[in-house]
Amino acid sequence: MSLDLESRFPRVKLGFWPSPIHRLARLSQDLGVEVWAKRDDVSSGLAFGGNKVRKLEWLAADALAQGCDTLVSIGNIQSNHTRQVAAVAAALGLKCRLVQEEWTRWEDPVYDKVGNILLSRLMGAQTVLEGEGYSTAVKETWERALEQVRREGGKPYAIPAGASDHPLGGLGYAHFCDELARQEEEQGIFFDTVVMATCTGSTQAGMVVGFAAQDRERRLIGIDTAADAAMTRAAVTKIARATAELVGLPRMISDNAIEIDPRFAGPDYGLPDEPTIAAIRMAASLEAMLTDPVYEGKSMAGLIAMARNGEIPAGSKVLYVHLGGAPALNAYHNAFA
Ligand code: PLP
Repeated sequence: MSLDLESRFPRVKLGFWPSPIHRLARLSQDLGVEVWAKRDDVSSGLAFGGNKVRKLEWLAADALAQGCDTLVSIGNIQSNHTRQVAAVAAALGLKCRLVQEEWTRWEDPVYDKVGNILLSRLMGAQTVLEGEGYSTAVKETWERALEQVRREGGKPYAIPAGASDHPLGGLGYAHFCDELARQEEEQGIFFDTVVMATCTGSTQAGMVVGFAAQDRERRLIGIDTAADAAMTRAAVTKIARATAELVGLPRMISDNAIEIDPRFAGPDYGLPDEPTIAAIRMAASLEAMLTDPVYEGKSMAGLIAMARNGEIPAGSKVLYVHLGGAPALNAYHNAFA
């Protein structure tokens, strides 16, 4: 069944949909498993796009309906999410205030100057560097930024980390599943295994709901990138259940509908390990597909390991969902020295 979200919830189109899917021929040959990619990293003209553009289409419609004039959000210093909030604000003529916390201790003299944060500043966002430590909890730093906008006479629209723990946060990736089903029908293929990076939760949560509405079972593997699989699971579960209710899914989301693999997160959020770096090199050198050390390199490392050790059996049709993130690469140049 199609969730038909477009006719039921307001949306501002900010991407080029559907995002492309294509076969990763050289990677497939190397791994002995058929792997395709769905490219949410190249599906928007807004500042290199990524998964947040898909989510923010629904939040931006709400912000405009409420007459808000400033998008206020929070993320790591090299957050892809805050860069996409800055992009959406610029494209819609809104102001933007971003709290850029230190979620990871990556020693690089240009970490707070290049990559995502540079792009956010170019697009006119005000970046406030304060706070530290990754968590899905509501942060005081973010509440202060919202209050500051109000004190200055503005009308803020609050967007949590990753646009996740928000009533509309799961809609984008629930809708993604309908989009994918249409592409599968057109191309005469069915992906039995979907691999993606998970962190603040609404990407996976939306997919859990969208796939639950479909007739055919498939395996959705969320590769934890927060290095705290319990926190990630709690976030995905909460958002999936709230989204299921919002869209009127006629069945419960059970605990075992949510698969989160903790093995590829590396030593901490934002810190790559050797398999992450090897996976980034492999996707780049075999497919010219750029992945990053915080998210997509980790989900790629998971896919590679599971294909090689048979956990993803030969004969599977695997979809790697590329959720963006490459703009952070320059801030990690010393990981590739
Ligand atoms: N991949 C990239 C490139 C991201 O920026 C994020 C954001 O956190 C994710 C994956 C994970 O998505 P989510 O936070 O919705 O779990």
